[in-house]
Amino acid sequence: MHRSDARGRPRVEFAPEVLRGNARTLVTLAARHGVEIAGVTKAVAGHPDIARLMLESGVPTLADARLDNIRKLRAGGITSDIMLLRPPAPDEIDEAAQLADVFLMSDPGAITALAACKADLGQSARVMLMVDLGDLREGVPPGDLPALVDVVRDLENVEITGLGTNLACHLGVLPSPANMGLFAGLAETVEARIGHALRYLSGGNSSALALMQQGALPARINHLRLGESLLLARETAHGGPVSSTSDAGFALVGQVIERGIKVPDPAGPRGPNALGQQVRAPSGAARSLALVNLGAVDTEVTGLTPHDARLQIIGHSSDHLILDVSAAPGIAPGDELRFAPNYHALATAMSSPYLAQVAMSVPANDEPEALHV
Ligand SMILES: *Cc1c(COP(=O)(O)O)cnc(C)c1O
Repeated sequence: MHRSDARGRPRVEFAPEVLRGNARTLVTLAARHGVEIAGVTKAVAGHPDIARLMLESGVPTLADARLDNIRKLRAGGITSDIMLLRPPAPDEIDEAAQLADVFLMSDPGAITALAACKADLGQSARVMLMVDLGDLREGVPPGDLPALVDVVRDLENVEITGLGTNLACHLGVLPSPANMGLFAGLAETVEARIGHALRYLSGGNSSALALMQQGALPARINHLRLGESLLLARETAHGGPVSSTSDAGFALVGQVIERGIKVPDPAGPRGPNALGQQVRAPSGAARSLALVNLGAVDTEVTGLTPHDARLQIIGHSSDHLILDVSAAPGIAPGDELRFAPNYHALATAMSSPYLAQVAMSVPANDEPEALHV
C-alpha cells in the first residue's frame, strides 16, 4: 500500500528492517545455546510479508495456532515447513493435513485421523507429542507420556519427531531448571520405547528465553517457538527486553478527530458505559481531551501506550480512544498519533478488518515513509 492510501486511515505500521534485525539476533542467540527456533506468526494473523522476512533472516520454520492464518501464509506464497501449534479440531484435521507439516498434538484419536489424511497426500504425519508441565493447557502429564508413546508408536504413518511443552500461557507457570530438567529427562524414556532419537525437544515459547540466556536450559532442549520476542522484543517470563532486539517493529496509528476542554461531572448519575462497564469517574478538574479514531472494535486498547509520553489514555469506547492531551498544547485534529501495542493489542489489530497494514521504512531522524508492498 502506498502512503497516500494509508494516510488518515487508522492502521498498523510495521518496520521490516526492525523485524529482520530481531529475527537475526534471536536465530544467532538461540544457536549459541544449541537451539533452533520456529517463528510464531499468530500475533500478526499470518501476514505473509512478515513471515517471509523471518524466513529471510534465518528462521527455518514458521508456526501458527490457526488454520486461517496458515491458509493466508500458503496463499501468500510461503512454502517453508509450518508447525500447527494448536491441536486441530476433529472437523479441521483434513485441512490441517493439507496446510501444515508438523503438529503439536497428544490425542491418539486425532493423531490417527491426521495420519490417515497425510497418507492420502503421500506424506507421513510428523508429530511433536505435547507434555503438560503444570500450566494446564495442552498435552499429557509426564506420567502419562509412556503409555501415549506406546499407542502412537504403533500407529501407521506417524513419525514422532519430538516432544513439546508450553508454559506461562494459562496459569503462568514459569520455565525453571526443575521443570525443564524433568522435560529433558523424558527424551530418554521416549527414545527407549521408540528405538530412535527424537529430532526435537521443543521447550516452550518466549518465556523460556531468560533461562536459555542464563545457560540454564538442559542441553537436550534444542527448539523453541518464539512469537512475542521476535515481534515485540520481549521475553515473557519477566516481561523484560531481549538484548539487541528492538520494540519498534510495530505501531498503531490513529488520527485526532476532535480536541476540546472538558469538565467531567463525577457527581452526576452514571450507568454502565457503551461496553457495559462501570468506569471510575475522573476528578472534576477541566482538562484538554482529544478523541482518536481507534476503539475497542479495532484493537485491545488497554494494551496501547502512546509514543508521546505527554499523552495519557483515559478511556475508550468501541470506536473512540479518549486522551488527556493537556500537556501537549500543539496537538490538533488531523494529527496522527502513534501507539506501541502489547502482544494482545498487536494480535487483535492485525486481525481487524478496519485497520490498514503498512510496511514502513524508518530512516534515522525522519518521519516514517511507506514502502511499496
Ligand atoms: C503462542 C504460542 C507460542 C509463542 O508464544 P510467545 O510467547 O509469543 O513466544 C509457542 N507455542 C505455542 C504452543 C503457542 O500457542
